[in-house]
Amino acid sequence: MFCADIFPVLKNWTDLQKRRELFEMFADIVVNHFYKNGEIVIIHIGTDMKIKAANSYAFKMLGEHIAGENIKDCFVEFQEIPDLEDIGKEGKECFINYNFDNNFPQTLKTTFYKTDTGLLLIGEANGREMEILRKELISMNNQLNNTTRELYRKNSELERLNKIKNQFLGIACHDLRTPLNSMGLLCEMLKDDISVFTEEELSRYLGMLEEQIKFMSELVKDMLDISAIESGAMILRTERYDFADEIGKLEQTYSMIASKWDVKFNAVINEGDYLIQADRNKLKQVVDNIVGNAIKYSDKGQEVKLLLSEDGENIKITISDEGPGIPEHLIADIFKPFSRMHIETPRKEQSSGLGLAISEKIVKAHKGSIEVKSVECEGSEFVVRICKKI
Ligand code: ADP
Repeated sequence: MFCADIFPVLKNWTDLQKRRELFEMFADIVVNHFYKNGEIVIIHIGTDMKIKAANSYAFKMLGEHIAGENIKDCFVEFQEIPDLEDIGKEGKECFINYNFDNNFPQTLKTTFYKTDTGLLLIGEANGREMEILRKELISMNNQLNNTTRELYRKNSELERLNKIKNQFLGIACHDLRTPLNSMGLLCEMLKDDISVFTEEELSRYLGMLEEQIKFMSELVKDMLDISAIESGAMILRTERYDFADEIGKLEQTYSMIASKWDVKFNAVINEGDYLIQADRNKLKQVVDNIVGNAIKYSDKGQEVKLLLSEDGENIKITISDEGPGIPEHLIADIFKPFSRMHIETPRKEQSSGLGLAISEKIVKAHKGSIEVKSVECEGSEFVVRICKKI
């Protein structure tokens, strides 16, 4: 009705005063519209602070139950309650946190007007404040997402470690039970009547006990090593040293061990620069393991060779034997913990299947690599490359 009459007039009207007057004619309609549809909380409270009337938005957001309640119940608990007596002065503004029914407190810019029967309170969302809150919410949400992702990652890592731990425990118990049983039987036998055994028999049995104890302590040491490595606790204590000197020192020990089983050991060191920055004990553990395996899997008269050479920025240690070799399809598995391939050693030694798993981790920590070439019934060759500077 009024649109058709008024808008053509308004377009050309430049007299501000007249324009204001014209709008005042429609003030009731505008107020009514916002009272009913605006996202504004309008509440009238009596002098006893009880809610006497409210608009539909106030009821919608604060709940129907507010009628007759104390206005303070509409504010969140941590909201410092303003002094309503003081605030009731005409047009006083402040920010109040309202207890909205959807459980999200909302801050509204609130203006108080004194009326004949109490106070009229008009609360409206403050755009700038809302924007700040929205940004805070988005950043909190992002943080939450990141934390959740991190939690998932840590959880699956924990699951993986827990699986490994259980697997280790299972195998360790099994591996320790067998030697413990045979040690128990031997002890029982000796305890029953030690006088019936000859000196030679006693020395053999004690030798067997000693061997089992040695195996068990090596197994426990390897398990401690691998569990420390798997849980990311390998610390390299590096120093600068000549790896050729190190091999020179080890050569005699390896020759002695090999000769015990009539196996030949031969080490060759090519001309070159073998100064490296590395963890001496850990690299010795790697060479001990691979040479130890090569001797262990060699039969009488066979030869184990070690060749030290340079390969660009790496030193290269090649260890070869003439033992039973490893079937091609099993080669990748020998680096997995507890991998025992049913390849019998000539002297039927026990094995933990942890040595190569530990060696590979140590070599990788030195930015190096281990390669294996093997031909069944002809022998194996392990090539270790270690970067001179890590
Ligand atoms: P362990 O020697 O205690 O069993 P390793 O991790 O050192 O554990 O070796 C894993 C497996 O790899 C061995 O059980 C064996 O089956 C195979 N293997 C390692 N070195 C050799 C070798 N020189 N010749 C034949 N098989 C080998």
